[in-house]
Parts: sequence; structure tokens; C-alpha cells
Amino acid sequence: MDRRKFLTRAGIVSVAGAATVACGDKGHTSGPQHSQDVAHFGHPIPPECQQGSDGQWQRTPGIRTAYSRCFSCYNICGLRVRIDEANDKVLKVGGNPYCENNSGSPLPIDTAVKQSYVALAGEAGLENRATTCAKGASCADSVDDERRVTQVLKRAGKRGEGKWVSISYEQALSEIVNGGDLFGEGHVEGLKTVRQLDKQVKPGYPEFGTAANHLFATFCAEDTLRGSFYARFMQQSWGTSNLGTKHAYCGAAQVTGFSLGMSPDFEEWLNDVDWENVEYGLFMGTSPGSSGNSLNRAGRGLADSRVDRKFKYVCVDPLLRTTVAADTNAKWLAVKPGQDAAFSFGVIRTMLEEGWFNKVHLEGASEKAAKAAGELNYTNAGHLVVMDPKHPNYKGFAKAADFGLGGDEALIVKSGSQTLVSAESGDKAELFVSKTFKDGKGRRVKLVSSLSLLREEAQRTSMKVYAEQSGIGIEDMRQVAKDLGHYGRKACIAGNGGTNSSDGFVMGWIWATLNTLVGSHDAKGGASYGNGPIGGMEGRYDLANIADGVSLDGVVNACRDGAYESSTEYQQKVAKGQNPYPASTPWHEALPAMNAAEQWTSHANADPYRAKVLFNWRNNFLYSAASISQEVVASIADPKRLPLIVGIDCHMNETNRYADYFIPDRSMLEEYAADRMWGSHMLGVVAAAPLVTPRTVKNERGQHVCMEQLLIDIALEMKLPGFGKGAIAHADGHQADLLCFEDWHAKYLANVAAQCEGLPKVTAEDREWAGLDYAMKPLTPRLTPAESSQVESLLSRGGYYVADERYDGEFIKGAGAKCLQIYHEAVTHLRHAYSGERYPGTITYQEHKFWNGDTWESHWPKSEYPLLFSSYKATVRSNYAVAYKRIAEISPTNFVYMNQDTASEQGLSDGDSVKLITANGKPAVGLLQTDSGVAKGAVCVSHGFGHSQGFGGDDRVINGKSVPGLKERAGGVAINQMIPSDPTRNAKASMLNDYWTGANCRHGVPVRVEKA
Ligand code: SF4
Repeated sequence: MDRRKFLTRAGIVSVAGAATVACGDKGHTSGPQHSQDVAHFGHPIPPECQQGSDGQWQRTPGIRTAYSRCFSCYNICGLRVRIDEANDKVLKVGGNPYCENNSGSPLPIDTAVKQSYVALAGEAGLENRATTCAKGASCADSVDDERRVTQVLKRAGKRGEGKWVSISYEQALSEIVNGGDLFGEGHVEGLKTVRQLDKQVKPGYPEFGTAANHLFATFCAEDTLRGSFYARFMQQSWGTSNLGTKHAYCGAAQVTGFSLGMSPDFEEWLNDVDWENVEYGLFMGTSPGSSGNSLNRAGRGLADSRVDRKFKYVCVDPLLRTTVAADTNAKWLAVKPGQDAAFSFGVIRTMLEEGWFNKVHLEGASEKAAKAAGELNYTNAGHLVVMDPKHPNYKGFAKAADFGLGGDEALIVKSGSQTLVSAESGDKAELFVSKTFKDGKGRRVKLVSSLSLLREEAQRTSMKVYAEQSGIGIEDMRQVAKDLGHYGRKACIAGNGGTNSSDGFVMGWIWATLNTLVGSHDAKGGASYGNGPIGGMEGRYDLANIADGVSLDGVVNACRDGAYESSTEYQQKVAKGQNPYPASTPWHEALPAMNAAEQWTSHANADPYRAKVLFNWRNNFLYSAASISQEVVASIADPKRLPLIVGIDCHMNETNRYADYFIPDRSMLEEYAADRMWGSHMLGVVAAAPLVTPRTVKNERGQHVCMEQLLIDIALEMKLPGFGKGAIAHADGHQADLLCFEDWHAKYLANVAAQCEGLPKVTAEDREWAGLDYAMKPLTPRLTPAESSQVESLLSRGGYYVADERYDGEFIKGAGAKCLQIYHEAVTHLRHAYSGERYPGTITYQEHKFWNGDTWESHWPKSEYPLLFSSYKATVRSNYAVAYKRIAEISPTNFVYMNQDTASEQGLSDGDSVKLITANGKPAVGLLQTDSGVAKGAVCVSHGFGHSQGFGGDDRVINGKSVPGLKERAGGVAINQMIPSDPTRNAKASMLNDYWTGANCRHGVPVRVEKA
């Protein structure tokens, strides 16, 4: 590697996993030595291993090493962890060199564990270096944090007041299950009486299911292993359909939209960048390694791409980020918040008018045609859509059979002719068609090709308007269009949650469409798709099915994630001869995303019904959900409206502070894991076992208190199905127990390991270097010898990673031929629950709209709210990382960023304390910073700060003793409750939604900024 390459890499990767191997003649020979006397120059800790004068590598005595997984954010990287055995402490973490998320050049899975440490040392260390980001590198702090809650707590004051007493686990369990006058505030129903499977939760409305739905459970679905246990309990054992998570206020709208471009059905797709060969990148609402994507993998990929291929990339973002480096081929286009679609349509219009697209790719109208042209995927760009409003198949694809040319398949006009042929004929398609044809019965039918419909939509608005709306000049849009056309399948368009406005769904669809226009899906150097996770619900043990479990088929949850047309309300209106539209309340079928925030909005409005119990594990919707209303907060704070709240976590957060009972949970280095990676191409699973003794209190049986144990004990107490002795069927016919935490995890890991066909055999030396005696002790008695040996192999490398051949010619190996959708017929069958209008078949450009179709501007005029707000994820902040001491040190606060010209127009100056005011959100106060790296007219603030009500930034009184909030935890401003809600939803509690999917939005929101 030349020096320039080294420097570029070094500059990109913000926090390397700091070389963990000491090299020297005379290393430490006794136990781990802490240099706690070094007060000013850091605290060097013992290395993992040392090389003796004989050249041999030895583990440092007293140090256990193990590969593990990071859950500081949802990328799920691998970790290598150094543990002080005598003190049962995590000393340091770095990256796992086997895991692609940590390393651009991961080690083969059959590399001996000892060898993996040697490969990280000395000269070899740079090529094999495995990094974590700053959050991951700081996660050693997660175990013994001074504000972590390890006791079982019961509320001692009013809800949310922060007063607690510690009680025994058994008392909490009994009170939660049996109820009583628990707080001197009157009788509280226990779980035993809440679960009523024989009554409707909303009498007369069967679609909402049984009264067991009065239990609302929120959780973190990103923790695949533990999350699947939680979901199994809540859905199949208990029987609630109200299982909520954060997807809808994260990136689910974009994923849903992206998926429309990938398949004629409704699937889940989102691309990554093929960093190995990409030459041009267009990043929408983000920059490489930002917005939740791992800086480890993207940083390495970006650095190599810059050096090896002079990678050219454009970031369309209201805020200039650090990875858009000067003196590279990078360009920042300062888009106005929430106006990404205007820019995108300007680009698409130009591409279609200038012919800057991949014609050969688009013409492939069938697998046969694509194959003949040397393409992998085919497209429906030339498929013809019936655009005759009186035709029974209006907006559907014209069927070959109707024109006497085949069966149900679509029609195309054969390229270079006027002849209609079946799309399956193998002929290339004419791309732009808009013409009337005679069908088999002699009827004249207007048929328009998908690509023509897209061009019509793009041409509906002028380039001038696109430029004015987006703030990006026509020339810049043209240049991007030209570059996309030029780089073709070596270009990749990528985005993430940074475009969540009322058109977040359309934005995801736009990225997919742009990748289709240039032919880069599954292409070498284009848009790549990871190989996905390895789940553990099935295999040797049947964890997925509970024989007498509750079926939720056909049940709609409290946020109405189903078809309005199947509702009782709709049917009653139709029966009365009324127009069924608008629905009284939003329904959204396109995004069944278990939207926790919308479920709680329903609860606050008691529509369709209220919750009686909240179980909140690893979720913080009151902090994280953009636009959640104060009415929701009030409804949760009031025991009369919500009688019982059980919070389960290792930290008190902004939602769990309202709990009646707080059950302490294992932290990420004390738990088992088997999770998918984000941003990784390789098929794999990141696996881990507890590394230190859990810090939570024990119950009377000597078990550490945690989420699983609580739910198991509730299930046993209430005799719920799926738990207890012999509750789990094994493939060999025997029944296994589910009585404790370890029972579940042993079986899940055995299922995962059984699918990992190339797991290496573990040697005695591997066992020693991977700390497997410690990891396997609770598992071995619960598994067969064969299962046990597979699980220890899985844990020895911190997971399983398949280094397959990446490419097959010009495409990603193993990628199946997809029918890419310029026009999505199935989505046009859905109707908006307010207007009754059909969903558009192509991406569409529209002003930001409320649920009732009013524009945002008509309620929130520019004269009152002259600026546009955008939030983003800070690189060094995430859910749990706020409680890492080192993170608070390196990133203590956030700022309100504004362009200096905008600030002076608003009469504001750098350093002012300012108040952000929206139409109906909770005002937020922060410190203004001005520079030229912000789009004019924009206000940008990062998410993840202002934790004055949780994570130790809050004041608490426990057992009468005051525990004051730590100032450094509370630094900065929290912004999600500032986001205003939709004033046109007819209810006290509302949210601001994506128009088509109902996901929460947070970008492009009109805001006013005043001196505080
Ligand atoms: S990107 Fe996320 S998962 Fe990966 S090391 Fe950083 S915090 Fe951990």
C-alpha cells in the first residue's frame, strides 16, 4: 500500500479498533496490570497477547479474549473483547477481523482464532485491521455504568416523578400478574384479568381482535435473537396484536418505497453500495457512513474507492458532512430540507429527455430478452399500461390475451416497430409508447408504456420549479443526470432515513427507480444487496410455532395497519349507501410496520381503544418518534388512562421513567446474540455470548433478573402456551424445556449454528483464545454434544461469515433475475383512506400534504415559519451510547446549525441560545452555530442529545436517596417532540405522517427560530 492510500484510509476511519496487540521481548508475565497511577496520559491496559523473544505468541495471563457483537447501534458489527478475568471487567473492545462490518478484508472463517490475533499485529495489522466506530469502541462502559439500573424498582411517587423503591423480583412479579391497590391510587388490574381472549377489544368491530390486545408491547426488533423471544411471547403466547417497534419512525417508509422498484409484489429491499467496484455515488439525504450506516465498512470502502478508482460522489443533503472531503471527487449539493424529490425529479426528467439512461437494460422486457442482451435483471419500462379511465383494467398492465397475443402476461411494442407483442416474446421493448391500439374485440384502448408514464410525471413540473423548490441549480441537476448516464452500472444511488418527509415512501422508490434507469441493481460496482441474516427460529428446535398459541391472522392492530376497505366502518358506510371516504382515522396498508408511536397515538385518543398495560423493552418511543404529541405523553403519565406500565431495560429512558415497575435487564455484553449485519455483503450472522457476570440482581432461585426470565415466569404463572417443561419440540422427537433465560438462547443458537454449513472445527487452542469455556458453560448442558460443538464453533469467531465469490461476470453472484418496476401495478390497487384515490403506479412529485390532502403551506405558512427543519444522526450518538462515559466526553452536546447568511437574515448570531418553534410541537432550545456548510433556509440539529429525562441525565430518588442527573448526559437538545403533528387528523393526539404510508416524518418541517 502506498503512503497516500494509507493516509487516506487513516483519515477516513474515525476510530480504528486501536491495535490491540503489544509486541515486545519482555511482556507482562503475571496477571493484568492496570496503570491506574497514570493520571494524565491515559490508562494503558494489558494487551490481549504478546510475542515472546522466541517469536511465539502467548495470551496475556489473566486476560480472556472473545469475539462478540456490538449493539451500540443497529448496524450490528462484530467486536473483539478483552476481559479482566479476576475482576470480571470488560477492559477494551475492538473490531472482529472475521466480520465484514469491521474489516474491508475479513479473515477466512477457518483462520485459527490465535492466528486472527496475530494477523492484527505489527506490519500485518493494517491490512487486517478491524475497526469499530467511536460508539462501539466505547461500549466497555456499558456494563458498569454508574447510572445503570440493576435493581427491581417500583414507583414510589407520581408517574414520571423519578421516585422509586427497590423491591424483590418476586414482589414485582406477583403484583404485575395479580394486580391490587398497588400504589395507593385504587385498584390496578393485573395481567391475569387483562388477558381476555373470549371478548372483543372493541365490541362490534371484529377486525380489532380480542381484549388481550389491551396489552401493548413495545420492543427493539433489531435485536433478532432476544427480540424474537419477546415477539413470540407477546403474539403467540399472550395474543396481542399491539407489538410496536421503531421502524415507522426510522426508515421503513423508504424501504417500503424502494421495494416497489424491485418486485411486482410487496417485499423488503434496500440497497447498499458495491464498494469494491463503484465509480460514482449519489447519496440522498446522507453521506457515506452516515444516517445509521456503519462508518467501519463504508469508511474502508470509501477510502479505497477514492484511492483506487477516483470515486466520484455527490451528497444531496442540507448539511455538509465530514465524509464529503475536500480535495477528493466529492461534491455537496445543499438541498433544502424535505425537497429531495424536487431535485430527484429534475435529474430524472433530464435523464429521460437527454437519453442519459441505460437503454439496453430498460429494453429487456423479459428474462429471455435480458439474457439475450447480456443483462441479469429485466424491467417493465416498456410494458404497456391501460390508460383509458373507462376500461375495466384502467391503470393495470394490458394483458396479451386481450389482444390475442398470449396469456396474462404484459404487452410491449417491439423495439423499432409499431407491433404489439407479448412481453414474454423475448423481443426488446420500445421504451416510449403512448398510443391507441385495437384489442382482440376491436375496442380502441389507450396504452402507455411505463417509462412514458414516468416521463410524463417528470415533465408535469418545470426544471425551474424543481430548482426553486430544491435549492439546487438546473446545471447541477443536469451534471448529476449526465454522470449517472455516463457511469451507468458503475453508479449507485443510495439513501437512508435522511429523507423522511411526507414523501419518504416516494423517496425510497426514487432511489430504486434511479438505479433501474442506470442498470445498476446487482451490478458489479452498482447497487448491491447483502445476503441477509441467518435466523434461529426453526431447525433443530421449533421455536417459531406454539402448538396451542394464539393466531392473530386477520387482526388489525390499534394503529390500523391494514386495508380500510375491510373495516367495519367502511362496510357500515357502504351498507348505508354513504361514500366510505374519508375514513374517520388513518389506515395504512402499504406499511404494516408495527408503528409504536401510532399505536400510542391511538391509545391517547382511545380510538379504537385504550391500552391497559404497557410492556416496554429496549424501546424509547417518547424520545425517538418524531412528532409524537404531548397528548400521548399525558396519556401515559396518567394511571387512570393507562393503569400499568412495566419498563424493562438496563437504563432508565424517557419512556421507562413513566413505568410503575422497572425490571433491570442484561446489557449488550452480558447477553447472547445472533444478529444480521447491515452494510455487509457476505452471508453471515454476528454471534455472541455473555462476557461477564450480569450486573442485575438475582431472584430467589439465584437467576439474574432480565426480560426473558420475567416473561417466562409470567407465562408459567399464567399457564400461557409455549413455556415450561417440554414446551419446545426438537427435530428428533423429544420435547425440550423453556424454563429460563439460557434455555431459549441455547436452542436459538443451535438452530443458527446448524445452518452454518462451513463452520470450522474448534481446536483446544481456539477454545482457549476465544474464551469458549466461559461462553459454553451455560449452554452445553442444554444441547446435544453435536449441537454444542456447532455452537462453540459459531461463538469462536463471533459469528459465521461466508466469503463466497462476489461476482459472476459483471453482476453480483447469486443475484436472481428480477423484474424491476418502473410502474408498480399492485400498489395502484390500494386506496388512500381519506381521499379514496388510488396510489400512483410510478414515483410521483407532490407538495407536502397532510392526511386530508391540505398542503403543509396552507396551515403553516412561510410568513410564520420561514425556515425548514432537518434532523440527522450524529456519527457518535445512538441509543445506548449516550450512557457511555467516553461518548459524553468526545461528543457532549449538539448544536442548532444554520447557514450564516440565513442566521443574519433572521437577526441571529453564532453562539446565540435559540428557540425552535413549530406550529404545535414542543419548542426546543439549543445553541446556534453558523457556517457555510448548511443549506440556506435550513435548520439542522442532530438526534440523540438532550437526555435530561433518561440515561442518567435525569434526577432520581431511589429508596429515599437522591441520585442527581449527570450533566454530561443531558447535553444538547432533543428534537423529536418539537416536530409538529398533522392538524387535519380529527383527534387530540396526532402525528405528522408520510402521505402514503403513515410513517412519521421529520424533514422539511416549517420552523421559526428565535433568540431564547
Ligand atoms: S457502527 Fe454501530 S454496531 Fe458498528 S461498531 Fe459502531 S456502534 Fe457498534
